[in-house]
Amino acid sequence: MNIKIADNAGYCFGVKRAMKIIEDMDKKNVFVLGKLIHNPQVIASLEKKGIKSIENIENLPENSTIIISAHGVDDRTKKELKERNFRIIDSTCPLVENVHKITKEAEKEGCKIIIFGDKNHTEVKGIAGNLKKPIMISDIDEIRNINNNKKFCLVSQTTQNTDKFNRIAEELKSGLNLKVVDTICMPTKQRQASSTELAKKSDLMIVIGGRISANTKRLAQRCGEFTETYYIETEEELKEEWFKGKENIGITAGASTPDYLIKKVYGRIENEF
Ligand code: SF4
Repeated sequence: MNIKIADNAGYCFGVKRAMKIIEDMDKKNVFVLGKLIHNPQVIASLEKKGIKSIENIENLPENSTIIISAHGVDDRTKKELKERNFRIIDSTCPLVENVHKITKEAEKEGCKIIIFGDKNHTEVKGIAGNLKKPIMISDIDEIRNINNNKKFCLVSQTTQNTDKFNRIAEELKSGLNLKVVDTICMPTKQRQASSTELAKKSDLMIVIGGRISANTKRLAQRCGEFTETYYIETEEELKEEWFKGKENIGITAGASTPDYLIKKVYGRIENEF
């Protein structure tokens, strides 16, 4: 069997940055608001080091340190954290910050903001939380009937599917006064492109990442359009029968998947199947 790992598989720079911030800090009374990154194995290892993920800031000790995750939060949440006098460590990815800036400015210019993404995702909630009733869509069908004289600005969650975003932008442009800002981040685009290229040449693709990871889900969907694809979190989920009669095996991983997990998957395929 030939086993190949896609270029750029694994941690993006935003995740590396967030992990480095945590590594370097004193870990006493440290809490992450939400999940630092969407990988359960990494979250579990942080919890072992005493860094807990929390969903709200009630009942925390006075001298706590709160880490804002790479996905960011809205300004109201930041203000609340400051008012409670917590020490705040902001690990929001600069590319997510950029979407906040773009959408706030577009709204000031009179645009109604349309966000293409998952409305329940932390990043989207943070962006939407700073805006006046943005329209959130995950598919073109959800917006076909909008047609009025307003100015609109379409942006995307940073980890969305580029082809789908472009299709939505094209379709909306024909009926609306629309400004389109492609805010899908470069690391996401690179991972989508290199994984697609590898999937086209492979008999089987293994996609590694947390089940709650938006960008990993997208990679698995995309690879599945070209070849047989399995989405796993760890090497323990690999099954021998997947590899029967297969020659070219491709591996890719989401932006929140650590290198050690990719190596374990590679090693198990190489040594056991
Ligand atoms: Fe930043 Fe993109 Fe990584 Fe999200 S996927 S943390 S936006 S680099």
